Amino acid sequence: MEKQIALVTGAGKGIGAAIAQRLAKDGFFVIVNYRSSEDSANEIISKIKEFGGEACGYKCDVSNEDECVSMFNDIAEKYGNISVLVNNAGITRDGLLMKMSSEAFDSVINTNLRSAFLCSREASKQMIKEKYGRIINISSVSGIMGNFGQTNYSASKAGIIGLTKAAARELCTRNITVNAIAPGFIDTDMTSVLSDKIKETVKAGIPMKSIGDTDDIAAAVSFFAAKESKYITGQVLAVDGGMSM
Ligand code: NDP
Repeated sequence: MEKQIALVTGAGKGIGAAIAQRLAKDGFFVIVNYRSSEDSANEIISKIKEFGGEACGYKCDVSNEDECVSMFNDIAEKYGNISVLVNNAGITRDGLLMKMSSEAFDSVINTNLRSAFLCSREASKQMIKEKYGRIINISSVSGIMGNFGQTNYSASKAGIIGLTKAAARELCTRNITVNAIAPGFIDTDMTSVLSDKIKETVKAGIPMKSIGDTDDIAAAVSFFAAKESKYITGQVLAVDGGMSM
């Protein structure tokens, strides 16, 4: 494989799909990971091929250790070692702390945080062999500020920040950078479930008074993924219209 390989988790739709398309435009061979959104992942791959990019899909539940390990081994065997990993897969299971089931807590931690640990562990083995790598973790403004009704989600996203900084320290002498992006309120399926009233309240609290779009996050990922960003590691970049400043 002449091109560098980038794996984006949860890339069948939303922010992940925008990241996959942006990295393909940047010249990466992109692996579009999905869990259930197969049709939409195939559409993203077709779009990438239409503009002359290269991509393929890989179905895998990234919170499952066996599936995750197999995915990384398969990729290495078929295409080569990956250079860029974007840990984007995520879910919400909102609810008040006093009413939250431990199952709702665990499923969010497993999907959002454990998956980032598993994928980063497997990717780092390949990146160390390549003597090069970029790991980019999608956190959230909720991981920085906390958010009402999201103790599970905020904990998972704050955990991502800790994981980013510790991994950055471990891997920085190997030419591997690890950074996080903390999106604010972005227009995707994850936020479309919220009522118009909640959306207006959130919008009113954003200094820029507007909701972000998926390309805003993809642009930040593109920056961290670039070879030129070699002296930046362990950082958390908020892309949130000023929400967390
Ligand atoms: P979406 O709900 O649109 O997409 C989430 C993606 O995660 C889907 O592609 C889904 O895949 C994937 N996913 C979920 N669980 C798994 C799993 N176990 N294995 C593999 N893939 C999985 O959400 P967004 O695009 O909005 O969110 C993307 C990331 O950005 C998340 O980490 C989210 O927390 C974060 N974020 C989003 C914000 C927003 O305002 N939208 C704000 C801050 C952070 P599939 O459909 O195939 O199951």
